Amino acid sequence: MGAGLTTRMGRDSVSCHGSDLQLGLPLTREQACQRIRCSNEELPALLAAAVEAKQRFKPDVISYSRKVFIPLTNLCRDYCGYCTFRRDPGQPGAHTMTPEEVLEVVRAGERLGCTEALFSLGDKPELAFPEMRETLQRLGYKSTLHYLEAMCELVLRETTLLPHPNPGLLSAEWISRLSAVSPSMGLMLETANDSLLAAGAAHDNAPDKVPAKRLRTIEEAGKQNVPFTTGLLIGIGESAEDRVDTLLAIRELHRRYGHIQEVIVQNFRVKADIPMRHWPEPTQGEMLRTIAVARLLMPQMNIQAPPNLSAPYYQDLLDAGINDWGGISPLTPDFINPEKPWPHLDELRRRTESKGYTLRQRLPVYPEFLPNVTSRPGRLADKVLAAADPNCYARRAA
Ligand code: SF4
Repeated sequence: MGAGLTTRMGRDSVSCHGSDLQLGLPLTREQACQRIRCSNEELPALLAAAVEAKQRFKPDVISYSRKVFIPLTNLCRDYCGYCTFRRDPGQPGAHTMTPEEVLEVVRAGERLGCTEALFSLGDKPELAFPEMRETLQRLGYKSTLHYLEAMCELVLRETTLLPHPNPGLLSAEWISRLSAVSPSMGLMLETANDSLLAAGAAHDNAPDKVPAKRLRTIEEAGKQNVPFTTGLLIGIGESAEDRVDTLLAIRELHRRYGHIQEVIVQNFRVKADIPMRHWPEPTQGEMLRTIAVARLLMPQMNIQAPPNLSAPYYQDLLDAGINDWGGISPLTPDFINPEKPWPHLDELRRRTESKGYTLRQRLPVYPEFLPNVTSRPGRLADKVLAAADPNCYARRAA
């Protein structure tokens, strides 16, 4: 890499391994693996190419979704090495929200101009814990997914917010059922590397983190044309090449089905009380390289990175080609990373504008994916249309 990325990318812009960056063609795997390990001297040229690609895709705008975070239950049958969200029954803080609690949060969000109700929850806790089975029985539901479906329906019926569930692995039947009560849904692929399931690794006690199973859920959503959010988690034991392969796996599913509305690049952050508390965090440089490579692998994709996990310098992520900040709540904490508060929306706008962009509030379903939902007449389509402005962003624009 001694010649410097500027020189090499200049050559690539004519032709390199069949790719042409100036024409906006995506990188090959080999090119992506080179760039994700580029030197500090080479980094500015990589970032410039990524921003150029972002500007060709969505010029001058950075979007976000104003949301409330609903931790429907923090009981989970998995034990990911980096998770502070999950609890076992009886542990301090273990909680399954009641319908009244859900509505109370959503109504408060409604008053603050939120348009997304993000349901985050543990994966199938009733399979591991009789206490969860009892809770569900008391609430009148057969499973956590039945309860989630009912709460999405409640939010849709009673409020102006749009549900976006993140419940873990889903069967074809459950993707179909949840897509009737939510315009979009999500599942982080996290990594395509199944060696992270080995003893001592991040996913060694997380049966729902088998990459092939997660890819199946994402593929099934594609078959059903459901706008889908996914992404990778960096710094959990994977290599830089694994990051490229994870992005390529997402790109391939999107090539086949066209349903991936957003790719999140999330960085692992250390917390005091997790099994991985002694692991090093990925550097800002690794984040920038991963985001830039994601942008160049998928020039026409919405690429998101959470600002709170890169504070205080989160505005620098804009230099790597993201076009979205993800869900930001003016009300509820980030229950997944409670020690990292979301920035105030005024501050987010100020920092976004300082880089020359306009901040725009979107719905949980991205503008270009609205037709996937509104083409199916019914309450969900009506609610989405009522929440959208003429450009398919949120009517309550920031
Ligand atoms: S990251 Fe998700 S699946 Fe893993 S333990 Fe936490 S809640 Fe469960």
